[in-house]
Amino acid sequence: MKLLTCVLTENDCYKAKRTITPKGVMVHSTGANNPNLRRYVQPAASTPGKAELLAQLGKNTNGNDWNRPGTNACVHGFVGKLADGSVAAVQTLPWNHRGWHAGTGTSGKSANDSHISFEMCEDGLTDPVYFAQAYRTAAELTAMLCTKYGLNPMADGVVICHQDGYRRGIASNHGDVYNWFPRFGYDMNDFRAEVVRIMNGKSEEDDDMTYYKTLADVPAWYKAAVQKAVDKGAFSGSGSGVLNVSEDLCRTLTVLDRLGKLD
Ligand SMILES: [Zn+2]
Repeated sequence: MKLLTCVLTENDCYKAKRTITPKGVMVHSTGANNPNLRRYVQPAASTPGKAELLAQLGKNTNGNDWNRPGTNACVHGFVGKLADGSVAAVQTLPWNHRGWHAGTGTSGKSANDSHISFEMCEDGLTDPVYFAQAYRTAAELTAMLCTKYGLNPMADGVVICHQDGYRRGIASNHGDVYNWFPRFGYDMNDFRAEVVRIMNGKSEEDDDMTYYKTLADVPAWYKAAVQKAVDKGAFSGSGSGVLNVSEDLCRTLTVLDRLGKLD
């Protein structure tokens, strides 16, 4: 996982300077079609490494990033695309700062007081390649935070999404991330399991370690779905027929194909 640091020092939440003892991690997704980190994350004049950060993030020319007063929300990190199109994580608050991400739930409590939070930048929610990369990076970030704070991701209420928080009475009624993960056959149970695998030094990819270099190498039972993804340009940029597609991604594409999403 590539992890940058760009603390949103101009955000009112940062300026409130309240801290928490982290008891969990809340995963959000933005609910807007813009996978670029620069939409939300920009350095201020005083941010260390400003020029390098701008080069990596790209410049937000709309002035609507979150490193400014009046945003009324702030999370500890984002997962999304850098200027070069690769997927990375960026830390935007000290991890033990009190974030403004969950609102207040029906219990009157708020995950703002207990959970570290990050936003996964949504795209159009139909690209399995971006989803796989963002999901993986989010799981790696969560694993890192659970390790850092001695949290058990399988324990009740520790690794949850915004909608989980609503159901538990500690967050406002938002649907994320269930507006996105299930489209690719995943839910928060899968996510927690992936976090555990990463914390144990394994990943789903390591478990399989199976990559197919070209379409000809892809097993017959995955081939139709992968062919459709290739035809739709999902693997553009590879050139000369080289895909290097993981079995995991083949499986995801096959689920999508069964749901009719690749036609
Ligand atoms: Zn949310």
